[in-house]
Amino acid sequence: MTPELEKKFYGSDPVFVLDPEDDRNAANNQLNTNTLRFWKIYPDYIRDLFIQSFGKSSVKPPYDRVIEMTWLDAFVKLRSETVPCPHCGKETFIAPKYSVNCMYCGGQLTCTDSIKFKRFELPAFGGAKLYDGMASDTEGDFHKIIGEVVRNKKDPSKHALRNLTQNTWSVKLPDNTVKTVDPNGIMPINKGFVLTIGRSEGTVE
Ligand SMILES: [Zn+2]
Repeated sequence: MTPELEKKFYGSDPVFVLDPEDDRNAANNQLNTNTLRFWKIYPDYIRDLFIQSFGKSSVKPPYDRVIEMTWLDAFVKLRSETVPCPHCGKETFIAPKYSVNCMYCGGQLTCTDSIKFKRFELPAFGGAKLYDGMASDTEGDFHKIIGEVVRNKKDPSKHALRNLTQNTWSVKLPDNTVKTVDPNGIMPINKGFVLTIGRSEGTVE
């Protein structure tokens, strides 16, 4: 490595190791095993952010960079969608309304419903977590868990959301009746249910 080459690689002509269109600096099977291993397991929206952030569009004019809020939202989503695999028990990622394979055992995890809030969507899958900031429209605590999806023990295709706050939630059913969900109580995740947490609303889709 010479000062001229350093300037080229880190300054005038940087190439992201996982750039999908430029393999001049491609990660190496022998040298970059962890990079390649982890790259494969993350969902597309995380990989896309890395490509957008370190790819040509960001490191060269006009510097179309990913803003901090976009990163935060993506990782909050990822953390919320990290669940124990029902087949092997290890942690893997789920996606709302998709079938994915466990990153460890390859078993299929299918998610058919979700609760849609204004900015975030919570997959109806056992172990998915709802953070305070995901329910609110603009801001909130992204570390505080306010709800967790639980699987029905008798019928594993059915899910419910447990209220982990100190406040009572309300739920409007499709026939317009309103029920309450006490602290530590559960709300069945059934299509058409509209959940109200404070001033925020989430609809089961
Ligand atoms: Zn598994």
